[in-house]
Amino acid sequence: MSVSTDCIFCRIAAGQVPSRKVHEDDEVLAFHDIAPWAPVHFLIIPKVHIDSLASTTPEQHQALLGRMLALAPQLALAQGVTNGFRVVVNNGADGGQEVPHLHLHVIGGPRPWLRG
Ligand code: AMP
Ligand code: ZN
Repeated sequence: MSVSTDCIFCRIAAGQVPSRKVHEDDEVLAFHDIAPWAPVHFLIIPKVHIDSLASTTPEQHQALLGRMLALAPQLALAQGVTNGFRVVVNNGADGGQEVPHLHLHVIGGPRPWLRG
């Protein structure tokens, strides 16, 4: 089963739940986070349902993971991020993952709380 109707990100990928899209291709979707931590905060997800980074293997997912990561700088720049950004992948319960569909957070723009 490649998509889950119970999964909010599968539903977004299927167009059943609205999102503010940043990028879409045959394998990957990127959309703005609904509760941003910074001026620019979007998520990059695979269209197929994968629970988490821990559910991936080099044999099966290397190309997809590479594609997702390689998109991050390109999409960040397209969103106007020119002074650096952070990529975060929360993984599993102790990793703080709340949505059990693999996603990369891309977070950029000025973050006053990190300045002294
Ligand atoms: P994580 O804790 O890494 O699982 O992060 C899940 C992220 O998904 C959080 O930053 C949420 O704000 C975001 N999120 C949850 N539901 C939606 C949604 N419907 N549209 C956009 N972002 C969402
Ligand atoms: Zn899913």
